[in-house]
Amino acid sequence: MPVKPNEQVVQLYQESKRIHPKMAKGKFANWRILVILATQFVFYIVPWINWNGRQAILFDIPGRHFYLFGLTLVPADLIYLTGLLLLSAFGLFWWTTIAGRLWCGYACPQTVYTEIMLWIDHLVEGDRNKRLKLDKSPWNATKIRIKLTKYLLIFVVCAWTGISFAGWFTPIRQLVPNLFHFHVSGAVLFAIAFYGFVTFFMGHIMREQVCKYMCPYARFQSAMFDEDTLIISYDTERGEPRGIHKKNLTAEQLASMGDCVDCTLCVQVCPVGIDIRNGLQYECIGCAACIDACDEVMDKTGFPRGLIRYTTEAALEKKYPESHIKNRLLRPRVLGYGAVLLVVFSVLVTSLVTRNTLRVDIIKDRGVMVRENKEGMLENLYNLRIISASDDTQILQPAVSGFETIKLTGVPENGIVVPAGVTMTVPVQVATYPEYADKGSHPIEFTFNYWKKGEETEKVRSITEKASFIGE
Ligand code: SF4
Ligand code: SF4
Repeated sequence: MPVKPNEQVVQLYQESKRIHPKMAKGKFANWRILVILATQFVFYIVPWINWNGRQAILFDIPGRHFYLFGLTLVPADLIYLTGLLLLSAFGLFWWTTIAGRLWCGYACPQTVYTEIMLWIDHLVEGDRNKRLKLDKSPWNATKIRIKLTKYLLIFVVCAWTGISFAGWFTPIRQLVPNLFHFHVSGAVLFAIAFYGFVTFFMGHIMREQVCKYMCPYARFQSAMFDEDTLIISYDTERGEPRGIHKKNLTAEQLASMGDCVDCTLCVQVCPVGIDIRNGLQYECIGCAACIDACDEVMDKTGFPRGLIRYTTEAALEKKYPESHIKNRLLRPRVLGYGAVLLVVFSVLVTSLVTRNTLRVDIIKDRGVMVRENKEGMLENLYNLRIISASDDTQILQPAVSGFETIKLTGVPENGIVVPAGVTMTVPVQVATYPEYADKGSHPIEFTFNYWKKGEETEKVRSITEKASFIGE
């Protein structure tokens, strides 16, 4: 449709160009490599670590047990997951207030896998200029060979990432050989394929688009920023007016120019394709590649490093010395988040350490409400659903109270032996004389003393559960 002179066309969809960032070298690039190696070491290697004869960390969803080294969690412990989520949330608030997008730039899985895919690009196709040239070149045998090699490598990384992911939920030492014998369940295969594909799609296809358009954290984190939050910024005052410092310029002309030689290297290394010299932008993930690139240029041109650097808005505006940035770490907002973090952490650890390693659910037998036993007593039937959240065999000794005379039967004399990590059901009977339990429901209480097998005299722990007894 023709556009009238007083009309303007606004494009709602802008096709993005593939970004081929140049590989940055320097202090921060090394830090990023280190963090990527550390996070991937945890992700790929931890499932292979054994503890007490089983996988040290295993989220066994079908078995409804989560193992974290010596700690066994059961579904009733989901409350600790809430605590963990709270801890992560406040940890992120605290960390973002101090360090801005340090998480995004170094440790976020999206950044990590994008970076790994970029390493593969770089390894197989070469650096930025070669990649750009290859993309523009027509398809021929060489281009097909290079692309095939790259996608083969990407496939291996994604497949192994998918297998490692599944290995957090199913014993990996059985999973890997079973895979080679085509002996894995559909659910496990789906988990491997799904996570492998997500890695490929997010890390190779979508890349910076995820940070720009999909990540909610990128959107709300600005609410946690203040003027003392660490940001990466170009020093406009020092850099402008920018321009190439040509050899034929006079000393006076050179003196009137800023330190930025307009080499655009800071733009070429940027994985999200922005120009940091245009000011703070929400797309910036804080990866510091532009700092490394610019520092290298400053070294070559003989200007001091730090034209692009980690700083804060306040330091830039109020001309704080760098040392003042550290002093501003202890500000009320940081201390507030820190205090909440400490409280949540202490509560979580204390409750984890003191939690019961046995759970008992009392399930009333609905088939028999009440019956008379051989001794003329009224008897109710219950099923004790016992869930062990321990790596040790435990002994459970139940008792019941609620009437002047009350009897519990169905329990072995020396208590119920509960093997490590099992869920078991034990039927028991509770009886009392008719004069104590007239028609209707009467509250009774079960007490369960339990201890680790062989440690009876040392540590007896106790839990109580309420139940009801139906009278005649
Ligand atoms: S502007 Fe600099 S810090 Fe921000 S994403 Fe680009 S290279 Fe990384
Ligand atoms: S790398 Fe430094 S000198 Fe080069 S354009 Fe960027 S800010 Fe200017």
